[in-house]
Amino acid sequence: MRLIKLITSFALLFTFSCQSPWKQDETRTVAQYEHEDEEQKHANTFEKLMQAPTDAERSRNFANYLDRQRSFYYVAQQLLFDFDARLDVIYNKTQNGEQLTDEDINEFQKIRAQNLIAWEFSERNLHEMLDLYYLALKHANTEDSPYQKSTQWMVANVKKWIDEGWKKGDKSAIMNLAQNLHDVNEQIKSEFSTKVKAPSFKSYLNPSQAVLTEAYERSKWLVANRPKTHLDSFIEKEWSEYLQTRVIEPEQDFVNTKTDFLKNDFKLKKDFNLKNFTTPRTPQALDELYPSPDGKGHVTGNRFPMGKWAMTFDDGPNPTHTQGMVNNLKNNGVHGTFFWQTQNVLKYPAIPQTTSPLYSRASHSYTHANLPKQSSAGLDKEINRAVTDFAKIVGEKPTMFRCPYGACGPSGSAIRQMIAKNNMLHIAWNVDTLDWQDKNPESIFQRTKKQIDSLGRGIVLFHDIHPQSVIASDKVIKYLKSKYKVEPLHKLIEESRGKPYYTP
Ligand SMILES: [Zn+2]
Repeated sequence: MRLIKLITSFALLFTFSCQSPWKQDETRTVAQYEHEDEEQKHANTFEKLMQAPTDAERSRNFANYLDRQRSFYYVAQQLLFDFDARLDVIYNKTQNGEQLTDEDINEFQKIRAQNLIAWEFSERNLHEMLDLYYLALKHANTEDSPYQKSTQWMVANVKKWIDEGWKKGDKSAIMNLAQNLHDVNEQIKSEFSTKVKAPSFKSYLNPSQAVLTEAYERSKWLVANRPKTHLDSFIEKEWSEYLQTRVIEPEQDFVNTKTDFLKNDFKLKKDFNLKNFTTPRTPQALDELYPSPDGKGHVTGNRFPMGKWAMTFDDGPNPTHTQGMVNNLKNNGVHGTFFWQTQNVLKYPAIPQTTSPLYSRASHSYTHANLPKQSSAGLDKEINRAVTDFAKIVGEKPTMFRCPYGACGPSGSAIRQMIAKNNMLHIAWNVDTLDWQDKNPESIFQRTKKQIDSLGRGIVLFHDIHPQSVIASDKVIKYLKSKYKVEPLHKLIEESRGKPYYTP
């Protein structure tokens, strides 16, 4: 593995150094390009943080960021529990062959959307907090920094905050934060060649199933007794705008209203069994699936042949967990599609550069920005540049794109026009594992299984950046193999449209 990495980095170095001077400059710009606005904003916040008169005050101010992230975590947990409760209603009814009501469907759709809104908001806060931690660590390890002593104090306090939270029994949020802080530690270690001083969060990274279960029960109590935060009001506000700005219409051959669309989702009869299922999929509009800013360019998996599933993994590549996912695919003999952020493809090029019959490589924007909120320059970066810079590493442009948080705007939006112009289909999903906000592989698996059995076909969404996702996805793949079929996403697209669809 080490040897492969070494060869890859030499190959990369060789490629870049052999290019013309103009090309070299372009390569440098690409590396610098990521997150420049956010980075600057967070650097300013860091400077402001350092202006406080005493070390104690500076540390307390930083601890406020941790506190806030912890409280957001439990807003997301509440939505997760609500999602599971709504899913249970739908699952039980479909398993008993009962008709779903409009309320069942609307409430499920609402909770699905609110989870996406919470995700986006808490991610933004998380990144701010992690950038501040990154800067604190950097200064703590820099001899000639005027902030060295203060940041060492600060970093030690982060560790104290984490340890105290754990002792108090707040295990879910702590595990979540510790994992993220650990990733920053790893990043710093890779950047500094000398001995790095960073607190270790390793003891929180691989909890036993017993700890996970205990943490899950405890977070139920914390959710029930939590104070409201401004994330709660943000969700209310965003939700009122949601239907206008975010919802993308179903694939071409579905009936018009969202409600009918979801009814179709759940039409599946009781005791579904692939072997007994002989009726072919709805045959209309077979050819009408190609890069296009309307429903013809949009895939959810709801039109796939009954019983067939595609596995997808978003947000990586990640230095650890992407390989875990690849191992899962290999061990189970199935195919998956990775939707990667270009900023991570540039950081970790080893897997993206490797072709494999086990996976396809697709795009998930440059920096995971919320696309409907971008300026035209922002969209240019998140879609056009994401694709061209992706191709510099992968060797080919992607032919499939997934909008962060599923937010692509309505039919014909500028976002969807840009995706189509780059010759890509937009790929959504119909089964959401919510693995980003659930540390417990077993509950992720149960949530996923219920959706799979309610829908009977489609696209499963996982993330290749979390340890729990690697464990849970293995369980899901094994379950799918026992009852359904797992096929390459592009093969199912081919079957749906009746002609080939190429993907790198
Ligand atoms: Zn994503």
